[in-house]
Amino acid sequence: MTDNVRKLIILGSGPAGLTAAIYAARGQLQPLVLAGEKYGGQLMNTTLVENWPGNKNGIMGPSLMLEMIEQAKNQGAEIINKSCTRVDFSAAIKKVWAGAEEFQARAIILAVGSSPRTLGVAGEAEFYGKGVATCATCDGAFYRDKVVAIVGGGDSAMEEANFLTKFARRVYIIHRQDTFNASKVMQEKVFHNDQIEIIWNTEVKAVLGDQTVKKLKIFNNKAKQESELAVGGMFLAIGHIPNTKIFQGQVDLAEAGQIIHDGTKTSKEGVFATGELIDKKYRQAIVSAGLGAQAAIDAEHWLQSNNLA
Ligand code: NDP
Repeated sequence: MTDNVRKLIILGSGPAGLTAAIYAARGQLQPLVLAGEKYGGQLMNTTLVENWPGNKNGIMGPSLMLEMIEQAKNQGAEIINKSCTRVDFSAAIKKVWAGAEEFQARAIILAVGSSPRTLGVAGEAEFYGKGVATCATCDGAFYRDKVVAIVGGGDSAMEEANFLTKFARRVYIIHRQDTFNASKVMQEKVFHNDQIEIIWNTEVKAVLGDQTVKKLKIFNNKAKQESELAVGGMFLAIGHIPNTKIFQGQVDLAEAGQIIHDGTKTSKEGVFATGELIDKKYRQAIVSAGLGAQAAIDAEHWLQSNNLA
């Protein structure tokens, strides 16, 4: 069985996982990447990425990720488009499964990123995919000539609101504060877009409709007033939560599911975490890529210092 034990398995294929794969492959670790069925991470759902260094006119998110995948393969990484469904890190040889298929390794890098946060209000789950969405670049075209709302006040909300104006005739940004936390340049684009109207100090309390979304029950938290807003769709851009459910009981997690870590080290020897799993502050593709490189170097050093490389 030891022949089947790899040096390193990387879970996840966003900028963090793939950069880790490139570094680990160059470090002769012959990494296996379980990329997930929806490989490539969050940038697969974006359009133009203008802040990735090295592309003077920007690069489309999916193109960037496909380049990274090819680069990792060219360096010697093995990439399988399957999702990890279960892990067992209790012994020195760690096990991960993709359905019934089992893989084993001495070291593991967790780079599974995060998923869109939801509001948890009435009607949200019921209308998910029928007017409630979390990815404007994926679903925006379904809202041609409609009125839609975006919830949130960060860069995602700004970017998605602007993007939606290509299709929707009117876009409301509903934000629970009286200022955005988005970067100034992204805010300016929103403020100068005539198709966007901002509804400040407001929370969505329920999603209402029949076959599809028809209106939102909203609450102005300053005036303490409830009202209804007619919309054909609601996009959520309220941040992300880490995809750590399958690691429960395997590495130490904080209450909100965040991995407890020291640099890229988790509580379990030989198990490293990277990307958005350990970055609560910057959440940029370039930062994730940098953290991916760190995780690969740390994993390589750990394997070497334990005579496992
Ligand atoms: P953020 O965490 O930055 O913003 C989340 C927003 O959602 C906040 O305005 C927050 O408001 C609001 N929010 C959170 N929870 C709720 C809730 N339950 N109900 C209502 N509103 C809520 O997330 P983003 O996805 O916007 O951005 C994440 C990171 O990705 C950032 O670092 C950002 O810079 C980056 N990014 C960069 C882009 C680019 O450079 N092109 C594009 C998109 C993202 P509150 O303040 O009240 O909590």
